[in-house]
Amino acid sequence: QTLDKGLEKSKTSFFGKLSKAVAGKSKVDDEVLDDLEEVLVSSDVGVDTTLKIIERIEARVAKDKYLGTDELNGILREEIASLLSETNTGEQEDFMLPTDKKPYVLMVVGVNGVGKTTTIGKLAYQFKKQGKKVVLGAADTFRAAAIDQLQVWADRVDVPIVKQQMGSDPASVAFDTLKSAVNQDADVVIIDTAGRLHNKINLMNELTKVKRVMQKVVPDAPDEVLLVLDGSTGQNAFEQAKQFTKATEVSSLAVTKLDGTAKGGVVIGISDQFKIPVKYIGVGEAIEDLQVFNKYEFVDSFFK
Ligand code: GDP
Repeated sequence: QTLDKGLEKSKTSFFGKLSKAVAGKSKVDDEVLDDLEEVLVSSDVGVDTTLKIIERIEARVAKDKYLGTDELNGILREEIASLLSETNTGEQEDFMLPTDKKPYVLMVVGVNGVGKTTTIGKLAYQFKKQGKKVVLGAADTFRAAAIDQLQVWADRVDVPIVKQQMGSDPASVAFDTLKSAVNQDADVVIIDTAGRLHNKINLMNELTKVKRVMQKVVPDAPDEVLLVLDGSTGQNAFEQAKQFTKATEVSSLAVTKLDGTAKGGVVIGISDQFKIPVKYIGVGEAIEDLQVFNKYEFVDSFFK
């Protein structure tokens, strides 16, 4: 899917609400700003980020004395782009690994159902397409389905997978995966981990242990901890980001399922709030439906 198609529902919903908010009004006044605030919050931009955007628009109104509602779209686009340009989010051009280090160890975290396995499969596909040697590790050993699902993706992409039985020690799977990757001289290892948020201490302990054991094979592993969030859950995605960033050091984000939702504004809020780069967005179930997130393209596509 293209980005435009992926964002269609979010755009339709946002501009539908926006046009209601400005209907019959020619100038941006307090009432329009109040309504705009509601539109942004209900589009899952998040309260804090919404307030920042509103303040910026208020400042423009104050400065220019008059702002026509017909200019609102362009102004919003400018202000959101400028807000995002202050975060280090979405600056990648392509599915490039940030270093040539071998193996590059990517650990993937996130609660069940967010699209973690799918994202791993799509990433494996992209890296393999570049000629990279990829190894997957099924360290989400809590659910048999998780291991099976990852196997399905390993077969689909045709990359090796290291796994053990359900219930085995995730750290042990991670250890085996890294060993195998080193032996095969692999370029990149992608480790799936269990994401049970119901017990934060357990989650924290498990992720810490997985990291510690990986470091016995590759001293500074992991190179990246990618948190996968389901964009269609809106505010839940914010909550999960909060919990995971408390439990472990998260270095990048993937926001999935933007195609099926009107909550695409969540990407703007999450980029602004967490100061962790959104690197990837999921815009469909197919293997090609993962995109490198680019904040400028995102805003352009949203506001055009
Ligand atoms: P996990 O439990 O987090 O590993 O989740 P899965 O990867 O198994 O995905 C759960 C469901 O979400 C599956 O049906 C996927 O096809 C679907 N899914 C994942 N990413 C996307 C996406 O970007 N868009 C859509 N529409 N569906 C997705």
